[in-house]
Amino acid sequence: MVAHRMTVALDALQTRLGEVSDLESVASGLGWDQQVMMPPGGAALRAEAMATLETLTHERFASDEVGRLLDEAAAEPDAPEDSFAASLLRVTRRDWDKARRVPGELKAELARTTAIAYEAWAEARRRSDWEAFKPHLGKVLELRRRYAECFPEAACAYDALLDDFEPGMTSVEVSRVFAQLREGLVPLIAAVARVADRVDDSPLHGDFPVERQERLVRRAAEGLGFDSHSWRLDPTVHPFATGYGTQDVRITTRYEPGFLPAALFGTLHETGHGLYESGSDPSLERTPLAGGVSLGLHESQSRLWENFVGRGRPFSGWLLEQIRHEFPREFAEVDIDRYYPAVNRVAPSLIRVEADEATYSLHVIIRFELEQDMLEGRVSLDDLPEAWNAKYAEYLGLEVPDAAQGILQDVHWSGGAIGYFPTYALGNVMAGQIWDVARAALPDLDHDLSNGETRHLRGWLTERLYRHGRTRTPRETLAHATGGTGELDPGPYLAYLREKLGAVYGLSG
Ligand code: ZN
Repeated sequence: MVAHRMTVALDALQTRLGEVSDLESVASGLGWDQQVMMPPGGAALRAEAMATLETLTHERFASDEVGRLLDEAAAEPDAPEDSFAASLLRVTRRDWDKARRVPGELKAELARTTAIAYEAWAEARRRSDWEAFKPHLGKVLELRRRYAECFPEAACAYDALLDDFEPGMTSVEVSRVFAQLREGLVPLIAAVARVADRVDDSPLHGDFPVERQERLVRRAAEGLGFDSHSWRLDPTVHPFATGYGTQDVRITTRYEPGFLPAALFGTLHETGHGLYESGSDPSLERTPLAGGVSLGLHESQSRLWENFVGRGRPFSGWLLEQIRHEFPREFAEVDIDRYYPAVNRVAPSLIRVEADEATYSLHVIIRFELEQDMLEGRVSLDDLPEAWNAKYAEYLGLEVPDAAQGILQDVHWSGGAIGYFPTYALGNVMAGQIWDVARAALPDLDHDLSNGETRHLRGWLTERLYRHGRTRTPRETLAHATGGTGELDPGPYLAYLREKLGAVYGLSG
């Protein structure tokens, strides 16, 4: 009888979670429509619709009823730890508990404050006016501190925020990884800077009409696994990827007529996110177990496909052929020995989203350090721009000319996303660890990629990573993918960069 009641409860819970997943799909569809299709005039009404949907989803999920079903379905005596039921109950319990802890008024206040702060940030960045944004960031910061207080078991406020983006990660662990990363990157970037003129990326600048770029990036994405039956590609100002189950993946890209890599590698990046989303086992659909397990692991896949594959030597041969097909005149004189270094050029720059593979993580480390200082009150908002500029001078050797190209460049803080940045660099680290193991497991990988053949790599990643969705914790997921302990190790990523840049720039030793 007890077993029967548990089965009934589990079925009822799954029905409820399916509805929640449907509501989330609808919200995500409206979000996609807003960025891809909606005329700007629709914004005000759309905001109301989104708020209503969010309320409905919250009521449906964070209810006493779901709590009761969780209790009844739990304690299944012999469900193995990694069974579907055990994973579903563990993940749902965690999500439910987090959703219940934060009072509705605080959530509403965060939503209102960040909506206003976003507008203020956009205007402040346009005018490069830190003082105009400062009071808004002050309010956001205060609310995020209160949010962190809802999770008193976290070792510090930062850890409470980080956990929303990278479950189970701590700032102590991130600091350890980032210290190693920084120690490896700073001398490598300095060595490259001494011979910077050995690489010329002028072939990538020019006049590249958008219609031809569109054909090119679609073909490149198809090389990675994009198929028109299950995927869509559209242009947007801010590129993103979103999935509605395994058979409906939407990615977007941004075209720069004067610079080919923006859309080309941006599309490979979003395709990587899409592959992870669409690779979940179909049995996980309409449950909280579908999709990526953490932002860091998600980013590991966008980076793996964009950089390790897309900017790697073997695949570059195939990709250059596709480029030549669309731009025969522009690339008539550009052979692989000019193209490959050009797409791997490293140069410290002010803007994170335009940074190359090697300097990118330093932009992230700077933000991680400042976020902690800000949250703990070690640096005041008055002094924050100076602290920012000092770190850009120290880590990247750059002088920041104004706030727009400095502290005001990112949207994240205006939206309350404090604790999000580390996941970008953690993604690089995890990509290095996964790539290492994939290479060892697939002896023909270079040969495959030089022919634009990605099936075996995709199959390996699906089996080791994508298929499992959120059924394991992020750490267990990484452990399973790499066959290791799940501990983050920047070693493989640094070794990969040293080898690549050593060859591209002719560095000795
Ligand atoms: Zn990404």
